[in-house]
Amino acid sequence: MTERDPDCLFCGIVAGDIPADLVHEDDEVIAFRDIAPRAPTHVLVIPRRHIADAQALTDADAPVLANLFAVVRRVADEAGLERGYRVVTNVGPESGQTVFHLHFHLLGGRPMAWPPG
Ligand code: AMP
Repeated sequence: MTERDPDCLFCGIVAGDIPADLVHEDDEVIAFRDIAPRAPTHVLVIPRRHIADAQALTDADAPVLANLFAVVRRVADEAGLERGYRVVTNVGPESGQTVFHLHFHLLGGRPMAWPPG
């Protein structure tokens, strides 16, 4: 697993080569607003290190996974999503994944339907 994939859009955002509306950054995680929001709050929470998707996670990634969800909680708190929110990660083309760098969609600020499409 490489630190940066030169062909990866989100690695470009991590590197600062592609602009993004950042709402959080630390040593291993960044969060930024989705460019095509599907809810009043739609933030993407990603590891700095290139990991293709959730299926590529290993036991060694437990610390970064815990940090990713700590950032999800923090962003949800800061956005005032006490009524609830949804966390989504797409895995593979059939799920609708379009960017192959692990990311958690944090969606909130409106009622959510179930099941998702
Ligand atoms: P997915 O389809 O689950 O892989 O999600 C990828 C998400 O990245 C989509 O919701 C896109 O709207 C979003 N996206 C694509 N390019 C950018 C960008 N430059 N900045 C912010 N979000 C982006």
